Amino acid sequence: MEPEFTYDLLIVGGGINGAGIARDAAGRGLAVALCEQGDFGGATSSASSKLIHGGLRYLEHGELHMVRHALREREALLAIAPHISRQVRFVLPHVRELRPAWMIRLGLLLYDHLGARSSLPPSQAIDLQASPYGEALKPELRKGFVYSDGWIDDARLVILNLRSAVLHGATVLPRTRFVTAHPEHRGWVARLQSTDGRWTDVRARVLVNAAGPWVDEVLSATSATTARPRVRLVKGSHIVVRRLYEGEHAYLLQNDDRRVVFVIPFGANHTLIGTTDLAVNSPLTPMTISPPEVEYLCEAVGRYLRTAVSPKQVVWSYAGVRALFNDHHQNPSSVTRDYTLALDQVQGSTVLSVLGGKLTVYRRLAEAALAKLERWLEPSRGTWTAGEPLPGGALGAGGMSGLIEALRARHPGVPPALVHTLAQRHGTLTDAVLRSVRSEADLGIHFGAQLFEREVDYLIRHEWAQTGDDVLWRRTKAGLDMSEAERIRLDQYVRERVASQSMEPSPARGGG
Ligand SMILES: Cc1cc2nc3c(=O)[nH]c(=O)nc-3n(C[C@H](O)[C@H](O)[C@H](O)COP(=O)(O)OP(=O)(O)OC[C@H]3O[C@@H](n4cnc5c(N)ncnc54)[C@H](O)[C@@H]3O)c2cc1C
Repeated sequence: MEPEFTYDLLIVGGGINGAGIARDAAGRGLAVALCEQGDFGGATSSASSKLIHGGLRYLEHGELHMVRHALREREALLAIAPHISRQVRFVLPHVRELRPAWMIRLGLLLYDHLGARSSLPPSQAIDLQASPYGEALKPELRKGFVYSDGWIDDARLVILNLRSAVLHGATVLPRTRFVTAHPEHRGWVARLQSTDGRWTDVRARVLVNAAGPWVDEVLSATSATTARPRVRLVKGSHIVVRRLYEGEHAYLLQNDDRRVVFVIPFGANHTLIGTTDLAVNSPLTPMTISPPEVEYLCEAVGRYLRTAVSPKQVVWSYAGVRALFNDHHQNPSSVTRDYTLALDQVQGSTVLSVLGGKLTVYRRLAEAALAKLERWLEPSRGTWTAGEPLPGGALGAGGMSGLIEALRARHPGVPPALVHTLAQRHGTLTDAVLRSVRSEADLGIHFGAQLFEREVDYLIRHEWAQTGDDVLWRRTKAGLDMSEAERIRLDQYVRERVASQSMEPSPARGGG
């Protein structure tokens, strides 16, 4: 007799890949549970460069297939998440000794056309001395190229996928660790432990291991034999400094080790610089940037920009681990960024592991994962996630500017700059955040950097925020513009609020 499974899928890991699979599967009518040991998006998926891109540099490694797919996904993501993403023009200063101009021109031509029907402006060669794009650069740089890519708020992308999954019926469990699972009746019984010490057993037909840097560890906990590590761990770090130049364009700087460093506007007042590539042995390696990495990034900028950057100017930094599919390349920068989906059978029970990947391709990865699992599941519909905006993303014909105008008209008592900030975080859900707010006084405590009690409560209630860091560095980046004292006050507020709400029934459902 077929046993009763509570869930079709138990997904381990609430990074972008777990969240994307949960959304897709729940929308196909499957019974989905997802557990995340920490905060959603709290590991690699909030530590990226936040680019939705094909990766110009990967053309050099011959990864045409991956770049093509990623460029197509760039279009899809800009369309389903228009409130948390934007197009960016990248300026690539030319240095003859590093790469010949013909090679860059050829690469950009490919990049323009590989994705097919791109809505983004094409690349062009520019005279840096005559172009405003050259103003921030050293005067000796004369020639350059401009091309287009996308940027997205990575941590919010995770949250929006999870919110969509919940709207489609998924159960999501923050701060709940998958400890072990044993096969039973061609399915799994998994043991989960939440941070308050509670244990739960979950029965699921299929296990999806989307544990990122912990993927090998989770696989071992299912008794699947892992003869050798399936992923290579490569740490990457970023620094943030006060804004280095005017304008919304970014720079792609060629380094003399043949790597590239991105310099990207970050919020209204800051510039993001990254990244590094360092092989590490454990996901538990302290996830902080090291002084040599800071030096490396400052030097890269110093070679190109008029304004030098010193380690003392760094106001924030973050580091994350890429879990890359182990293709046995020696150099961490050369290991493929493409993903592999590995199926294992343990005594007739199925576990699917996600190895590698990019933020950019998470949606396609989710589709591929469900295609691989089709014979064990009975979805009620086919692929759907490319055609349905993420929560808050159905902006209508007027796009972002139309939405902001309409929000300002609907909320005349709210400062226009705050409406603008909220719209870029919540899109059409801004109305839910501002429900019954008539004047600034209704917004409650101002914690600094346009972060008000009203929004913080919303993030706790609908977006699973439970600590100050969840709010300051993932649901928003307000932490960047706040003083230490303001951040401590916010953290205390969040903890007290969460403690008082734990008495109330089920949060984080619905659109607010
Ligand atoms: C420095 C850097 C820059 C990058 N830049 C870009 C970029 O610009 N564009 C791009 O497309 N990609 C980029 N990437 C790649 C991208 O960030 C990753 O591919 C993506 O975030 C991986 O998501 P994930 O869900 O697989 O892993 P994670 O985000 O790491 O999620 C895995 C989750 O599993 C949880 N977990 C682990 N073990 C357990 C357990 N036992 N129980 C419960 N939960 C568990 C972890 O806590 C974690 O939250 C970058 C990566 C790095 C490191």
